Amino acid sequence: MTVALVTGVAGQDGSYLAERLAAEGTLVHGLVRAGERPVGLPGEVRLHRGDLRDAEGLAELVRRTRPDEIYNLGGVSSVAYSWRHPVETGAVSGLGAVALYDAAWRLQEDEGRAVRVLQASSAEIFGTPDRAPQDEATTVRPTSPYGAAKAYAHQMAAVYRARGLGVSTCVLYNHESPRRPETFVTRKITAGAARIAHRGSGTLALGNLDARRDWGWAPDYVDAMVRAARHPVADDFVVASGATRSVADFAAAAFAAAGVDDWEPHVTVDPRLVRPADPGEQVGDARRARAVLGWGGTLAFEEIVGRMVRHDLARLTG
Ligand code: GDP
Repeated sequence: MTVALVTGVAGQDGSYLAERLAAEGTLVHGLVRAGERPVGLPGEVRLHRGDLRDAEGLAELVRRTRPDEIYNLGGVSSVAYSWRHPVETGAVSGLGAVALYDAAWRLQEDEGRAVRVLQASSAEIFGTPDRAPQDEATTVRPTSPYGAAKAYAHQMAAVYRARGLGVSTCVLYNHESPRRPETFVTRKITAGAARIAHRGSGTLALGNLDARRDWGWAPDYVDAMVRAARHPVADDFVVASGATRSVADFAAAAFAAAGVDDWEPHVTVDPRLVRPADPGEQVGDARRARAVLGWGGTLAFEEIVGRMVRHDLARLTG
């Protein structure tokens, strides 16, 4: 039986990954932080309390669970948080990843068998990229504590790869689902559009409507991570839809999906929500993932938005 260890198992990606692995018969161990209450995870998932900042605890967990595959999805999940907590961000999202690679490498040495590692890397490692679209050869030049921590983890993956550990990275662009918290603009919009459609009135306050993102479907991105972890040759893989839409595009699609044709009267711009420094155009070129991993996104933009809106409408109508 394949054994997997998943950090960040309580998050959006972790929960989809745990479901997928458990359904195919993999034994899943999940790392959750103290006080974190994962909901809706399959019952078979074995939860372990721990912290990515605790390198010795991680090493012990890896020694004890003896995984074939390690997925590092844990860590700080927002750029904004990283500005408020830069030291924690570096410790969790940077050093925490290295602690896992090192524990995996030691297990591999001790047992004389391959241990595969998948690092959830991020488009934020490119900061304000000087070219679009970005691919695996684009200069890593982060512009936030979050991006810098992820860049360190990304580059240490290559260091451990050269040392003989099968560690791959997926450089993930934004990926959404009904499991996104409302701190992300996508879910904020779909929850808001559903609420306004349900009541027949109301407004939603947003920030920069012109900000553009390369948005994909989270379960597809989890699929890319599994394919990358299992590919015989470890490498870096950009995982992206390859197209950007604006926040306004997202709002128009969400209100349309909720049955509200004219979205503009329902959206206001609150200057406090406009970020002082939004990054430049982040859009990914996923040709390597397509060619090498046979990966592709399964849902068009409108369908991603539609599924999120239908989920939020269903919650309101019970
Ligand atoms: P991010 O890519 O991880 O920052 O994902 P977010 O979903 O938080 O933000 C995506 C984009 O939406 C950013 O460029 C924000 O400036 C923009 N945006 C506009 N209005 C809002 C809002 O009300 N909330 C959030 N979170 N983002 C907003």
